[in-house]
Amino acid sequence: MYILVTNDDGVQSPGLLALCQQLATLGDVVVVAPERNWSAGSHSRTLYAPLRATPTTLADGRPALACDGTPADCVALAVMGLLDRRPDVVVSGINLGPNLGHDVLYSGTVAAAMEGLIVGIPSIAVSLVGGYKPDADFTAAAGWATRVAAAAVEHKLPAAVLLNINVPEGGSETVQSAHVTRLGQRIYRNELVVRHDPRGRPYYWVGGAAPDGHLEDGTDLGTVAAGHVSITPLHFDLTSQAWVDRLQTIAW
Ligand code: MN
Repeated sequence: MYILVTNDDGVQSPGLLALCQQLATLGDVVVVAPERNWSAGSHSRTLYAPLRATPTTLADGRPALACDGTPADCVALAVMGLLDRRPDVVVSGINLGPNLGHDVLYSGTVAAAMEGLIVGIPSIAVSLVGGYKPDADFTAAAGWATRVAAAAVEHKLPAAVLLNINVPEGGSETVQSAHVTRLGQRIYRNELVVRHDPRGRPYYWVGGAAPDGHLEDGTDLGTVAAGHVSITPLHFDLTSQAWVDRLQTIAW
């Protein structure tokens, strides 16, 4: 199996390293990841500037390519010819923090997997709640990503669907069951922080408390809050079919 690994936290993220180390048990792993943090960068693409992919090494000596583009650029570039063969699966992560509910619209981690979907390759995004903590343990999340990647190839996951995995905090022993879920509803608590620069001009920084959400059964948010791994199948179609039907009753 040939596995393309990327992320949105940057190529030197500990989450990416842990992911590569476990995925290597399945086959050949190639890393093309952004050289900087693109969290909340969504599905941005670079079309008006050149892109470079610079050879580097991860903390364990493993080779990687550090790209100066976005997460979606990394996948597009890899598949358009940077790699000499087409990956069997794209795995994006392990993100340092969850991607639940509305987060998927902002997430660079999910966007990289969505780019895999666009080019017709089974794709997986994986995120660890609390992954930004210095002592975060990625073992369980990497294990689930590896299991799901193997299953995606074995069961021929349709190329039009990506799997968004969220793993709750806790070591391998505590996170033992996974549920297939739908997206839930996030509640954001953003606050605008206004400060002044040394010249007296205001600048604005988005802060506020961590988001929470409606913890409904069957949703990604509810499942992770209950201590289970959440696997949400996502596709790109944001169409509201209910409103297609209602709007068609209007004589436009
Ligand atoms: Mn991130």
